[in-house]
Amino acid sequence: MTTTAIIVAAGSGSRFKSDTPKQFLEINGKSVLAHTLERFEAAPSVSCVVLVLAADLTDFFDIGPYPKLMHVVAGGTTRARSVGNGLAMVPRDTEIVAVHDGARPLVTVDEIERTIAKAKATGAACLVAPVTDTIKSVRGEEIADTLNRDKLRRALTPQAFKIEVLKKAFEGVELNEAVTDECYLVEKLGHPIAIVEGSPRNIKITHLEDLILAEALLNSELETRNS
Ligand code: C5P
Repeated sequence: MTTTAIIVAAGSGSRFKSDTPKQFLEINGKSVLAHTLERFEAAPSVSCVVLVLAADLTDFFDIGPYPKLMHVVAGGTTRARSVGNGLAMVPRDTEIVAVHDGARPLVTVDEIERTIAKAKATGAACLVAPVTDTIKSVRGEEIADTLNRDKLRRALTPQAFKIEVLKKAFEGVELNEAVTDECYLVEKLGHPIAIVEGSPRNIKITHLEDLILAEALLNSELETRNS
């Protein structure tokens, strides 16, 4: 089965207080995006990669180091539109699509492989992590309710799907800011989505402190590998 990864990295990083988009900031001498792409290069079941970048960057990205990278396409004004633009460019023989945030450089090859394998078996799979804090819903300035965290999971990426499921989920829907992941659209189809347990280490670089944490986590990975 041909599996294509869509890596979305076209965000402006408005929550990140830096002039450089967060996916191009460096950790240990390599950009966040380069770390992410290398993990997909190393994942045996991924045959090719479609990278979604801000329109003004697509012509400048050096695809040289990434043999699986087939297309670099321009993103949209929301994450979901960026994924849609990537989806339009996946090769014809693609059977499974794995969508991943470029801003998650700590995803492991094992997480990628397990999520894809689950999607092959079930049609749709989402990498998740447990919720460790107590989560409250709020009403205005006050706490409204406490949610049962045993029933909650944080949705990570990759999220992987049989291509026909993902294409159907994207058909005729408004790809606005409310669509923060692909599972949201697949849930609306009523298609079951299997969960795959992931690691809390698979963080999304959103704020400056996430970069510091990512560096520490990458260094601890290297230490474990070298010990
Ligand atoms: O904004 P958020 O943190 O959810 O972004 C998750 C991923 O989606 C990031 O890797 C970001 O670059 C990407 N994104 C995108 N196009 C957008 C917004 C976000 O590719 N318009």
